[in-house]
Parts: sequence; C-alpha cells; structure tokens
Amino acid sequence: MTLTAGFDIPSVNAVILARPTQSIALYYQMVGRGLRLSPETQKRDCLIICQSGNVSRHGFIEEVKSVSLNPGEETTGMEAPKKICPPENGGCGAYLYGFQMCCTECNYKFPELIKLPFIQQLEQLLSEEDKQRLAFYRSKLQLSYRNNYAPGWAAMVFQETYGHFPPDDWAKGAIFGESPTPELQRLIINTYVISQSKDGNQILGLSVI
Ligand SMILES: [Zn+2]
Repeated sequence: MTLTAGFDIPSVNAVILARPTQSIALYYQMVGRGLRLSPETQKRDCLIICQSGNVSRHGFIEEVKSVSLNPGEETTGMEAPKKICPPENGGCGAYLYGFQMCCTECNYKFPELIKLPFIQQLEQLLSEEDKQRLAFYRSKLQLSYRNNYAPGWAAMVFQETYGHFPPDDWAKGAIFGESPTPELQRLIINTYVISQSKDGNQILGLSVI
C-alpha cells in the first residue's frame, strides 16, 4: 500500500517518496505525512528520502511557496537554483542549493568561480573574424575618445568598413574599463561635457558633481 494523503500518524519519522508526481500540492501532502510533531514519542524531525525525482522537480520542501489544494489553481513562489554535487569530480551526487559552495553531505568543495570580464567572455563566443572586428571597433572607440570625435564616429567607421553597425555591447568598457571608479566617472562626465559644449568653462561649472 502506498500512502500519500489522508494518512495521519504523527510519529512517522521517515517518508520515502516512491512515486513521482507532477502536482506540487500532492508532493507537499506526501511529505506532510512525516511533518507532524509527536509529543507522545518526542519525535521532532523526519527523514525524507526521495526516490522519484520529486525534490528536483518541485524544489526542497523548505522553500516557501503558496500552494492551492484546488486542482487547476496556480502555485506561486520563486524556486532557488539547484546543482548536483559532481560525482565526476569526487562529489557524492547530492542535490544542493546553487549557492552552496561546500556539500553538506560529503564536504565536497566547489571551485571558486572566477568571473571573466565581459569582453573576455564575449571573445570566447566570437569567430576569429568577429574577434578582429571587435578589436577594430574598440580601437576606433579609443581613438575617438582621445581625439574628441563625436559619439558614434567609431560606429560609422565600422559601418563603412564592414557594411553594418557593430552590436551595442561591443563598446562596453572599451575606453574606461568595466568598472571605473567614482572619480574616473566624474572625470569622464566632465570631459564629455566640455567636449560637447561650445563654451566649455561655462558648462564645466554646471557639471561638477
Ligand atoms: Zn557531496
């Protein structure tokens, strides 16, 4: 006999999820067979063993979601990202929250993620030909900044050379890097305002921030 809903024995201290379900309401009901406190037996916790993919399908039971028991009504709530403790690297295969850097089952330590700068990530995705176009565009952006050319000059040169405009994100960080300091940002704004004004001093006075 498989017991899912309507089975009320508070002392149950282990639940084996042996049947898969697409219904999150039924999933909660099945797990709920083991979540009652039992003052008689002093039972205060419950072991949940999932053999049917319900946890990976619906999330950990601790994740708070609003679930309707009425068929057809929506379940609301965000699901946190998950990952597997990687058996191929010596991990145990446990199902974990995405933010966990150490496995709670086997102490496997996930390697620190080294985030590459945006432009390096982009270069990994581009063909050799596009990489050259990217380098061309960024060198023109730097040239236009040094020479106070109008914004858009580099994109025009690119268009004249290759017959189309460059993607917007190819300009990201081309001149000041990806995370300029506040001082540098202020300098950038002031320099830009001066370069775009007929009476630089007057505008500079307004733009000091
Ligand atoms: Zn593990």
